[in-house]
Amino acid sequence: MTLQIVPDATPAAPAERTPIERHLDRFGTAGGQLLVGGIELERLTARVGSTPYFAYDRGAVIATVAALRAALGGAVEIGYAVKANPMPALVDQLARLVDWLDVASAGEMTTALDTGKSPDRVTFAGPGKTDAELEMAVAAGVLVELESAREAARVLRAGEAVGVRPRVAVRVNPDFAVKGSGMRMGGGPQQFGVDVEAVPDLLTLLADLDLDLQGFHLFAGSQNLHADLVRRAHERTVDLLLDLADRLPEPVRYLNVGGGLGIPYADRDRPLDPAEVGEPLARLVQERVRPRQPDARVVLELGRYLVGEAGVYVTRVVDRKVSRGRTYLVVDGGMHHQLAASGNLGQVIRRNYPIAVGNQLDHDERETVDVVGCLCTPLDVLGDRVELPVADVGDLVVVFQAGAYGRTASPQQFLGHPAPAEVLV
Ligand SMILES: *Cc1c(COP(=O)(O)O)cnc(C)c1O
Repeated sequence: MTLQIVPDATPAAPAERTPIERHLDRFGTAGGQLLVGGIELERLTARVGSTPYFAYDRGAVIATVAALRAALGGAVEIGYAVKANPMPALVDQLARLVDWLDVASAGEMTTALDTGKSPDRVTFAGPGKTDAELEMAVAAGVLVELESAREAARVLRAGEAVGVRPRVAVRVNPDFAVKGSGMRMGGGPQQFGVDVEAVPDLLTLLADLDLDLQGFHLFAGSQNLHADLVRRAHERTVDLLLDLADRLPEPVRYLNVGGGLGIPYADRDRPLDPAEVGEPLARLVQERVRPRQPDARVVLELGRYLVGEAGVYVTRVVDRKVSRGRTYLVVDGGMHHQLAASGNLGQVIRRNYPIAVGNQLDHDERETVDVVGCLCTPLDVLGDRVELPVADVGDLVVVFQAGAYGRTASPQQFLGHPAPAEVLV
């Protein structure tokens, strides 16, 4: 008989852990090192061959999608917005996990189609699609989300040029805005979508055009951490899209209700519980959508929520200096790779992203330092007065929440350093 050691308390709920503890729990640690994809950070760094780099944890992406799927219970399909992270291996992985891929350029469309995803599960949104892009999309059989009446006429011509009947949906700019969104993309005047009050006229126009109208799309905002506000936005979105769908002679096959789920970046941010968003949306679909549109595929379209937390940006300390009492860790990366962490991607107030010394997690001696990048500008700050284990030249400083809008949303050419490597493990 073995003696079992029973812990005297269950592990703290995620919200009670500090942000750094939550990230370490998720990735795992061994011997004072962060694990990414189960590999100790120093070993992974040797495997990658250079710093700085981005590493994405495949298991973390799989777990995020699984938790969301469980909450949605089969009532709602999931789309991945490729612009959040277009690394081909990652898009490939997501193509196997989610139902739809949403692209916003010809380049993203090529990446999405290369995964083998059926073109009728690829959507193409975004203002300013060129004629060449529209022809590519129509030829591929991708669903084009119309951002204006003029674009409808252009996609029709693209269809004539390539001899294929275009599949389209109307992207709607709603008459409401979603509170709590870090970035607003609907409500008021917008370059995105067709104002809801102009949609009836557009539908009259479309009735005379040889287009395969599949349904509607509404994406109102992004980076929202308030489950109640997301829930209310989904309710308004569903009601608005159902009323528009009633104007069509045939049932619709596609209702994309947007997404907007955020991830915590600053210390005071709390993570969203997938059940708090997914379960009410699933209920909404059963109660309101199914009676009126039994066959419509309802899509929740997400970028950062699916991949943001799975990524880390890994840099190496190249200098440690003290200036008039302040200690600086100078690392070999910076804002040219991870602009958002420097606070220069639309943030009004700069707040530190979660940071750790990924190869010295168990170091007891701690100090308050500034972590700065290698660019010759005072804007290149990754951590402003952060408390970290004492680190020295050669140590690995890790920035969490780097899986979305990192490498491809940063000015890589600025200062002319080489591009960072990227791995999916
Ligand atoms: C950017 C974008 C998304 C993804 O936004 P996230 O904040 O990354 O979830 C989804 N849909 C459309 C149309 C977008 O433009």
